[in-house]
Amino acid sequence: MSSRAEILRRLGEQTQWDVLIIGGGATGLGAAVEAASRGYKTALIERSDFAKGTSSRSTKLVHGGVRYLEQMNITLVMDALRERGRMLHNAPHLVHDLSFVVPVFDLFGLPYYGFGLKVYEWLSGKLSFGPSSILSTKETQQLLPGVRTDGLRGGVLYHDGQFDDARYAIALMRTFEDLGGTAANYVEATGLIEHNGKTIGAHARDLETDDLFDLRAKVVVNATGVFTEQVLAMDGDRETLLSVSQGSHFVLPPDFLPSSNAMMIPKTSDGRVLFAIPWHGSTVVGTTDEAVDRASVEPRSMASERAFLLDHIQKYLGRKPQKEEILSVWSGLRPLVRKGGGATSKLSRDHTILVRPSGLVTVTGGKWTTYRRMGEDAINRATEVGGLPSQPSRTSLLRLHGWSREPVAAESDRVYGSDLPKLEQLSQENPSLNELIHPKLPYRMREVVWAARHEMARSVEDVLARRTRALFLNAQAAIEAAPRVADLLAKELKRSEQSKTRDLENFYTVARGYIYEDEE
Ligand SMILES: Cc1cc2nc3c(=O)[nH]c(=O)nc-3n(C[C@H](O)[C@H](O)[C@H](O)COP(=O)(O)OP(=O)(O)OC[C@H]3O[C@@H](n4cnc5c(N)ncnc54)[C@H](O)[C@@H]3O)c2cc1C
Repeated sequence: MSSRAEILRRLGEQTQWDVLIIGGGATGLGAAVEAASRGYKTALIERSDFAKGTSSRSTKLVHGGVRYLEQMNITLVMDALRERGRMLHNAPHLVHDLSFVVPVFDLFGLPYYGFGLKVYEWLSGKLSFGPSSILSTKETQQLLPGVRTDGLRGGVLYHDGQFDDARYAIALMRTFEDLGGTAANYVEATGLIEHNGKTIGAHARDLETDDLFDLRAKVVVNATGVFTEQVLAMDGDRETLLSVSQGSHFVLPPDFLPSSNAMMIPKTSDGRVLFAIPWHGSTVVGTTDEAVDRASVEPRSMASERAFLLDHIQKYLGRKPQKEEILSVWSGLRPLVRKGGGATSKLSRDHTILVRPSGLVTVTGGKWTTYRRMGEDAINRATEVGGLPSQPSRTSLLRLHGWSREPVAAESDRVYGSDLPKLEQLSQENPSLNELIHPKLPYRMREVVWAARHEMARSVEDVLARRTRALFLNAQAAIEAAPRVADLLAKELKRSEQSKTRDLENFYTVARGYIYEDEE
């Protein structure tokens, strides 16, 4: 992996890119891999860290979306199920099959969910993750220890995918670089360059040095998630395109759901589905759907969302978590394309591609699971707009960086795929790098070194939130681990004591928002 200096040099030197992508979340990185794999000279700029936005804050499901089936959005479900199969095929080190159990408390529920989930299985065709089946009360209790037993009539078992969203984004960034692409984090698009009414590039600012420079391209793709309208406004478009909806999650210790299976609650009080999912040794509970007025970089959970999650956990797992048992709380914002009014939970999760008269291509909406398809569609349009030689898409079978089917016991190691032996070598050469960053976290000091050297980690937050998932798993432990991580990172990046202290303070400010505060 090139150094940041080398990447910035490449950005500055290239007189004209074929494709310039603004935004380094799932959508932008997917489009970048799509463009580079077709042979186009492609650059991507991200103003924060890769996946700092919505793409590190998902429910971690690679799924067709059982809820969209209920809404009869069959095309979206089938597309997403196809993409789910491709994600497993192309990144088996990051995606795996997970069994879900729907606990059922009324007699009608068993045939209803049993049939619905059978249809879900059929729609996935050859890419099915496994058969669904109706469970007795006893089987449901065995598969979901901890589930409320009072009134339990049975359950339905089905299969879907799970992944580590931020690690998947890093694998996309590495794949892009392997394909000859140039991606930089902490570089912001501050405006668009226009010539004769056409968008021919973007003004950029390196946020580490404040250096300004211009990037010219045959076509510019706006993949900025909930910030899409900011970039459209740079192009003179001030229409409202998006509704923003917030979703929050809790992380609980594994004893709330001591099982390798996930629980899916098919109908919450606001008509949504809710999940309790084993992830990296803990249980993730979510999500909510609350309309918000505007996009923000670090959304915070609302009291109403926390109350909703607590209420439903208590209802289905029979126990209310104590404050100290809630290890982390995080929120993400959905960029939903407006189509009429109504609740955000009813808005479509389909993606939208817009081409402005200036030629600016915008891609937004969709789901993590459909990122590849979004990238393919966006680059198809970008090819036409930019007059690029037409090339077929190659990404449906493109293996991502680190591809490996080697069985690895620890989930925190498995995400490195074929790079794992190189991380192990780091700890062989220097045994102190084999130490855990914190006794309550599954990560080792070697991951810090690896993140700085090979994954463009620039801050303690990059390491603890997205290269490892420490902050999402246990916010207090991540805060306690931070000084040690900061020392090693500053050494790797040859940073001063003063800059290290500033970095740590920034991390503490962000991390405090992940600690659960109750209402009293
Ligand atoms: C609570 C929640 C749960 C979800 N769960 C799932 C799930 O389980 N499975 C699933 O498939 N999908 C899920 N989704 C949907 C999925 O997470 C999103 O569809 C996806 O992450 C959106 O990615 P994006 O790249 O469009 O946006 P983002 O990830 O937000 O990326 C946009 C990026 O653009 C950057 N940017 C903005 N302006 C500029 C600029 N001027 N210059 C440079 N960069 C800029 C931002 O910093 C940001 O990193 C969930 C969403 C939410 C909110």
